[in-house]
Amino acid sequence: MYIKYIILILKNNEKNILNAVITSTTQFAMSPMDEKALVRKLMRRVETYITKVPNMSNSILAQISDVNSISKVSDIVANYLPIEFDRRLEYLNTVNPYKRVIMLFEDIKTEEEILELDKKIDIKLKKVLDDSQKEFILREKIRLIREELGDVNLKESDVNILKDKIDKFKCPKNIKDKLYSELKKYELMNSNSPEVGVVRNYIELILSLPWEESSKENKDLKLARKRLDSTHYGLDKVKERIIEYLAVKQISEGLKSPIICLVGPPGVGKTTLAKSIAECTSRNFVKISVGGVNDEAEIIGHRRTYIGSNPGRIINAMKKCKSNNPVFLIDEIDKMTKDIKGDPASSLLEVLDPEQNKYFVDSYVEEEFDLSNVMFVLTANYLYQIPEALRDRLEIIELSGYTEYEKLDIAKKHIVKKQIIEHGLKDKNVSISDNAILSIIRNYTKEAGVRDLEREIAKVFRKISTSVVIGEESKKKYSITEKNLESYLGKKKYLIEDNNKKLPYGVVNGLAYTEFGGTILPIEVAYYKGKGNLMLTGSLGDVMKESAKIALSYIKSNYEYFNINYELLTESDIHIHVPEGAVPKDGPSAGITLTTALISAFTKKEISNKIGMTGEITLRGDVLPIGGLKEKCIGAHRSGINTIILPKTNEKDLEEIPEEIKKDIKFILVNNYKDVYKVIKEE
Ligand code: ADP
Repeated sequence: MYIKYIILILKNNEKNILNAVITSTTQFAMSPMDEKALVRKLMRRVETYITKVPNMSNSILAQISDVNSISKVSDIVANYLPIEFDRRLEYLNTVNPYKRVIMLFEDIKTEEEILELDKKIDIKLKKVLDDSQKEFILREKIRLIREELGDVNLKESDVNILKDKIDKFKCPKNIKDKLYSELKKYELMNSNSPEVGVVRNYIELILSLPWEESSKENKDLKLARKRLDSTHYGLDKVKERIIEYLAVKQISEGLKSPIICLVGPPGVGKTTLAKSIAECTSRNFVKISVGGVNDEAEIIGHRRTYIGSNPGRIINAMKKCKSNNPVFLIDEIDKMTKDIKGDPASSLLEVLDPEQNKYFVDSYVEEEFDLSNVMFVLTANYLYQIPEALRDRLEIIELSGYTEYEKLDIAKKHIVKKQIIEHGLKDKNVSISDNAILSIIRNYTKEAGVRDLEREIAKVFRKISTSVVIGEESKKKYSITEKNLESYLGKKKYLIEDNNKKLPYGVVNGLAYTEFGGTILPIEVAYYKGKGNLMLTGSLGDVMKESAKIALSYIKSNYEYFNINYELLTESDIHIHVPEGAVPKDGPSAGITLTTALISAFTKKEISNKIGMTGEITLRGDVLPIGGLKEKCIGAHRSGINTIILPKTNEKDLEEIPEEIKKDIKFILVNNYKDVYKVIKEE
């Protein structure tokens, strides 16, 4: 028998005691059949409710399954339902179990409706969240998956850093858009993909280019000239032309201004002059060399389609120099070659052309980079090897080799001072006599410029520095003289023969103008029994080979005039050799030297070692003009020549020859080979 009590709990505040009033209630009579049916119905209802509510334990079913009293079952169920306190009291006050079951059915239904509504709201809410958070959640998931796989790279934080950089980066809008789109690509890529590095490098490169960075230019040309004077001795004409060029560039801003090209042998100051131009105009300086470049991709970059591709040298240099208006030196433009990979000279033209270089596109960068503010300066050793299309557009400034006394001045005013400082020495502790410097110039170097001279002087000071450090002789004064020079530099490397002596017959000194400056070029002829064959050795170019054939034909057709035995000419094989064998030689200017060497060989006439000659010859013996006379004369003087035979048509070029050379050398001007013959016959 299930008896229901009503318990009223009263709190006695004063004594802090709980009081309860308990009264029993009357039981409602119900047939056992009705009660059983009601219990079953309630159980089924509870069962369906539990399946819908995820957090409701089904232990409730176990509790009520053995109970037959509807009064008790309804109480247990009411206890589990998530209803409010007042409603629970209502249940307690409702003594009629039938009524309580009705109440339960109502409450279960309400709870189910609330649940249904909750679900609907959840779904709606989720949809709203889905749209905005989908990306975030996905990313989080990817991140977590990668973390789980041990694929934790720093890409995410890298992306954030890059984004920050891009936000702040100064560049045109199209470049910024490109950067963002590349960043997105990078972000979505698997870190293990080989392409990830390609995209990352690309972004880095674009971020390192000076799209809108430029240095403030100095336009004070007087100051510029002062600066050039302080770094370079002499070169007045060259400096004047550079200042004129800068002036024209300032006036004609925006107009097409030509590109300057400094041409001259090594060590005459081309590179350092370009550096000084940068300093005196307050521009940054950057240098690339294109010697040996045979692929235009070297200039304009490789496409980004394969791993390992790179931007070209121009963009790489711009990256290094960090401003878009530097002085940009392109070295050795005469050493570029052309082959199946394309013609780098034509890509260089695009770079240099002021009309095109505003929109310069490197294949790797893929976007236009403005090169129009760059001041290009080119250098070359040999004018005639500069690709013709390029040569046309350049303002050529020639720097010739230095004479001995110019070298002496450069050494005294610049090199010695510079080297004393570089070797941590003091002016008052070291002195080097003029004769010592001249001896270094004559006996330890053989060059048109002053690079080796600088190296040898450095060697002297290195020795002094070492003895200061090791020998604790810092207070001692070091004087370098011609006499003690050997103790610093060792035995002399080159000896100029002062004596006027004859060369063996068949040998004559020619004069050559090479990329290293002017020099003497001895030509040797030998003959022996044979059938009149001509053999030529010494890496001779086609034009020089033809000159040799012309010389031989000229002698054959004038054999009587030169007193040559004709049979000797036809019954001998003739060998002409031009040392040094491995150095390529070409050009027609050895014509009269070849002729003289042949005559000397066949007439056994010895020629003086002090005579040098240069001139093209025709089949009629006419002597035609040659180029590079100044360089040739400086070179000949360096080698101790005192008589130069040259074409009369080159007379005007003698003006350029420095006085100190003119006073030491006798110039004999000739129109025809017979004039040359007269000189050697009277020798
Ligand atoms: P290039 O580029 O013509 O081969 P560099 O500019 O490298 O020659 O010059 C080589 C060295 O010779 C540098 O140290 C430079 O300072 C020095 N030099 C060359 N010409 C002069 C000059 N006229 N005055 C002072 N120093 C010079």
